[in-house]
Amino acid sequence: MARNLNELHPRLQEKIARLQVLCAKEGLQLGIGECFRSASEQNALYAQGRTKPGAIITKAPGSSYSSQHQWGIAFDFFKNINGHEYDDNAFFTRVAQLGKSVGLSWGGDWHSIVDKPHLYLPDWGSGTNILKSTYGNFESFKKTWGKASITPIKPAQPVAEKSWKATGTATCGGNSVNVRSAPNGSVLIQLNKGNRFEINGETSGSWAKIKVNNTVGWMSTQYVVLDQPAKPRQKPAGKITLKADGIWGSDTTKRLQQYFGLSQDGVISNQLNAYKKYCPGIVSAEWSNTPNGGSQLVRKMQAWLGIAQDGYIGPQLIKALQGKMGKSQDGVLSNPSQCISAFQHWINQQ
Ligand SMILES: [Zn+2]
Repeated sequence: MARNLNELHPRLQEKIARLQVLCAKEGLQLGIGECFRSASEQNALYAQGRTKPGAIITKAPGSSYSSQHQWGIAFDFFKNINGHEYDDNAFFTRVAQLGKSVGLSWGGDWHSIVDKPHLYLPDWGSGTNILKSTYGNFESFKKTWGKASITPIKPAQPVAEKSWKATGTATCGGNSVNVRSAPNGSVLIQLNKGNRFEINGETSGSWAKIKVNNTVGWMSTQYVVLDQPAKPRQKPAGKITLKADGIWGSDTTKRLQQYFGLSQDGVISNQLNAYKKYCPGIVSAEWSNTPNGGSQLVRKMQAWLGIAQDGYIGPQLIKALQGKMGKSQDGVLSNPSQCISAFQHWINQQ
């Protein structure tokens, strides 16, 4: 490959140098391919698809001097990333835009053979007829060349594709949000509100690097809505976790008082001695022969169970609780009790 940039027209060299700066600013890896091409090199290309295998890539035999490369006024470019030299249309479109901004014309705008990797000096039209009629041959043309005021840098070695390391996930915060090839670069795709993508923590000004499906690009940070890292599910401070042992002790009472929004003394106050025989599994109650309103906690539980709120634990409350816990309703909380155990398990989930 004839990649000698210093064999190109000095003005083309200057423009390539400026293009290299613009590409570097956008992180575009500009590779330089064919530059000046001799007649024998052009003949070899012309043979491809005619007398040699492959697809036809040029209409110009070497002897015709109809390739701009043979006049030193064109060069070919590619994406300088191993394995991805020609698979990124957006890259070619953007480099072409930048090339035009420094006064070059693009083979991608041609119609007969669209040549996306080709940029050229437009001074002599889009072909070589003007050059041929004005100068006759390349040597005469070259005598008119001056010296380049700035020269391109030597094309870098192809770089390996950076592997993507996601540092987080995010969703798009707006509709028709552009994902660009570079900060302010060409539009690769658009995302809508709620579309998910990955980030790798790389930013440039107000731009963040993102990956959506297999496309890596840049999005304005104002539309990057970061996912919150999953928080461990927290229990409210001081929440008592019960051992589901089937015995209703003071911890069980405290936890229920907590659950029902009462002060937590761990005692079921003023329960009827007459009902004690139904409650061997309850060891945190205060039994009394003198009913004076019963327990506030029991009234809360009765409301919760949808039964009359008299404040006393008796067969009616026990049966309702057994029903709620899916146990057989014999009206007795034994020691230990399957119903109490299920109730303790249930309250632990609240
Ligand atoms: Zn070309």
